[in-house]
Amino acid sequence: MHKKTVAELSAGLKAKEFSSEELTQVFLQRIADLDKELNTYITVTEEQAIYQAKKADKKIAENTAGTLTGIPLAQKDIFCTQGVKTTCGSKMLENFVAPYDATTVTQFNNAGMVLLGKTNMDEFAMGSSNESSYFGAVSNPWDLATVPGGSSGGSAAAVAACLAPVATGTDTGGSIRQPAAFCGITGLKPTYGRVSRYGMIAFASSLDQGGIMARSAEDCAMLLNTMAGFDEKDSTSAKIATENYSQSLHSKVEGLKIGLPQEYFAEGLDAQVGQCIEAAIKEYEKMGAKIIELSLENTSLAVPTYYIVAPAECSSNLSRFDGVRYGYRCQDPKDLTDLYLRSRGEGFGDEVKRRILIGTYALSAGYYDAYYLKAQKLRQLISNDFTQAFKQVDVLIGPTTPDVAFKKGEKSDPVSMYLSDIYTIAVNLAGLPAISIPVGRIKNKPVGLQLIGNYFNEAKLLNIAHQYQTITDWHRGIPEKFQ
Ligand code: GLN
Repeated sequence: MHKKTVAELSAGLKAKEFSSEELTQVFLQRIADLDKELNTYITVTEEQAIYQAKKADKKIAENTAGTLTGIPLAQKDIFCTQGVKTTCGSKMLENFVAPYDATTVTQFNNAGMVLLGKTNMDEFAMGSSNESSYFGAVSNPWDLATVPGGSSGGSAAAVAACLAPVATGTDTGGSIRQPAAFCGITGLKPTYGRVSRYGMIAFASSLDQGGIMARSAEDCAMLLNTMAGFDEKDSTSAKIATENYSQSLHSKVEGLKIGLPQEYFAEGLDAQVGQCIEAAIKEYEKMGAKIIELSLENTSLAVPTYYIVAPAECSSNLSRFDGVRYGYRCQDPKDLTDLYLRSRGEGFGDEVKRRILIGTYALSAGYYDAYYLKAQKLRQLISNDFTQAFKQVDVLIGPTTPDVAFKKGEKSDPVSMYLSDIYTIAVNLAGLPAISIPVGRIKNKPVGLQLIGNYFNEAKLLNIAHQYQTITDWHRGIPEKFQ
């Protein structure tokens, strides 16, 4: 049961081959048996899961169930859950219980899904390896010595190891797509504004976007049907009509124009990863797609631009953690300044502090124009590249990451970690949707292909990803230890 996709589980529940309670028990048992090695969950919500599963079974018996009713899911621990801890991977929020649910949580509750627990992540979603979590690193189920990617590494590893059939993630600079690539699963980052950010703890508000980590594009579509749409509680959510993302999966790829940005195949890309990507592109050609080479000239500016914009926004967002209102408070503060300094000094980890320092510096009087304003201008140039590209092509294709999963501890200097996001970050700066799908393995380590779509064109992305998954089996791969 644990190897099935959401689509298969939904059919099984409907046909009463198993109950949601049985299904939920299978996953809870797997978590109890296998998660010690992986560390994918920060909190397991066993009691709530059984309660929700029973409720779902009742709905199924009464024939009032929807397609997702009774399906277990894991939520990244950045989404606020009423009555359940939301830590954001930080000591700062180690004991924080939100007084309300994130919209995403409400949506899946209303759809009758079963919450298995909250998944591990880089502290405040800052990182590409899940090593910055206060709750310890996560292991990649394909090779326990390597990282699962980050920041949604817990969600990615949980889905890859079948400790959840599907999970949520968030993507500020690649945190859905990069861990999806490293763990051999499918990860969808929707257009900025497509999915509500209400109740999703903010890192960099103009870049953050919630999305889905699943076994297949078909599963991503099923969840997006519930997740997408305007939310009056999120002023940046878009009032643009949603589609039935499952319906459009089956369109043919024939005649599709796929753009190949030359900058995504330049120096820095591992040769074997490049070969896997080229093989996948050949599959698309065989299906009748046309490949068009083009240029996204400002690609090399994406990482430096991001590392001004994201820290600037994070320094402002994280100022709310002051030891007064909620979160960690230091012991016996001498005075108010001491309370601020020590609560923040003791509550935040190194990477978060580094970003707050960079961001505060970039926003300070005298430096604002030189850094923040300049970065905003470059951000526009990066977006313009994509706008130009989408005049010629329907989607863009390339690797999700320059290399496969790296060893824990390998990227100890921050800059080499930052550079590993070279292919994912520009998408967030432009606010576009993108998906990563598994297209091969090198020495048993998965390789991810990235497809980037035009604004609000998730349907096309899911369709193209699904078409590849109907003729290949990479997305069906499960690491040997977790079969
Ligand atoms: N790795 C990037 C960072 O460290 C992106 C993180 C994310 O998407 N949340 O900021």
